[in-house]
Amino acid sequence: MSMDRPDRLAAALTERGLDALLVTDLVNVRWLTGFSGSNGLAVVGPGEQRLFLTDFRYLTQSAEQLDAGWERTIAPEILQAAAVAVGVPAPGTDGSVRVGFDDADLSVKDHGTLASHVADGVELVPAGGMIERLRSVKDAGELDKIRAATRLADAALTEVLTRGLAGRTEREVALDLEFTMRRAGAEEASFPSIIASGTHSALPHASPRDVEIPVGTLVTIDWGARLDGYASDCTRTYATGELDPRDREIYDLVLEAQETSLAAVRAGAGGREVDAVARSIITAAGHGEHFGHGLGHGVGAEVHEGPRLSQRSDAVLEVGQVVTVEPGVYVPGAVGVRIEDLAVVTEDGAEVLTSLPKDLQVIQ
Ligand code: ZN
Ligand code: ZN
Repeated sequence: MSMDRPDRLAAALTERGLDALLVTDLVNVRWLTGFSGSNGLAVVGPGEQRLFLTDFRYLTQSAEQLDAGWERTIAPEILQAAAVAVGVPAPGTDGSVRVGFDDADLSVKDHGTLASHVADGVELVPAGGMIERLRSVKDAGELDKIRAATRLADAALTEVLTRGLAGRTEREVALDLEFTMRRAGAEEASFPSIIASGTHSALPHASPRDVEIPVGTLVTIDWGARLDGYASDCTRTYATGELDPRDREIYDLVLEAQETSLAAVRAGAGGREVDAVARSIITAAGHGEHFGHGLGHGVGAEVHEGPRLSQRSDAVLEVGQVVTVEPGVYVPGAVGVRIEDLAVVTEDGAEVLTSLPKDLQVIQ
């Protein structure tokens, strides 16, 4: 990392007419400064100001992790110290100092602390999402980390599947998967794994149960690994034996929607437009009402970030964004199927990171 990121942020501050941005969200702090501890804050100005604040516990860690170019302050109350550091209006002017804060992250209580410690004439301006917009386009190093997280997660599931699905409980499979990912070097699962069999597969965000996975059913597995600060996200749906023809039909439908919409991913395509490709296929088959979530989302330092691929998305895809393509059909009380790949947006298409096969696999 370099000062490239704070400089890109500084340019965005100028565009927004802000005199400083207070960065409180820890994922944003890490992306911006390199610091990964649990208490840190950055103040960035459109000019030279690059201030990082943390407390005594992180004296050593912050010295090791901070990218070059940051001025560091150790303070017991970093929010109060930041409130003072954002400055005061220039003497003799009646102007104010406009300080952006992340309104999606700062609590009402912390906002109160901030407001009571800034100088007269400092205006606190809601400015959430500025770093998230920059973060959505990944640099080469970030792409390598996401590729590595995806490879690790794929290898872990492949290993877990050699131990079978039918006869094990959903919870056993989830624990096995998490343990296998951690043993292979993952920091953690990037979110709690979903292992959903039988009628439970109709719940898009099912929690693994202490229920044995039966033979002859579908099992949806949605999992990811976090490695070096970056997440992966993937879903496969497996059969545990001979399927009801209805289940097979839904699998084939979701697969067609997934492959066709994945082929529509490219720089310049709209998030709404790519979503519509999958949605029209599923709707034409009479399952439109059974696909109630968006087609996909960005993945990076967070497992859910911009851009969104959905009916409400205004995003236009850019080279270097990393998105999931994950249509699903969920028939309440009956069955559900989701198939999800992770892909990097390129000039003329997508680099698919997920390596696992998508034709229906039978795992007993
Ligand atoms: Zn997923
Ligand atoms: Zn996802």
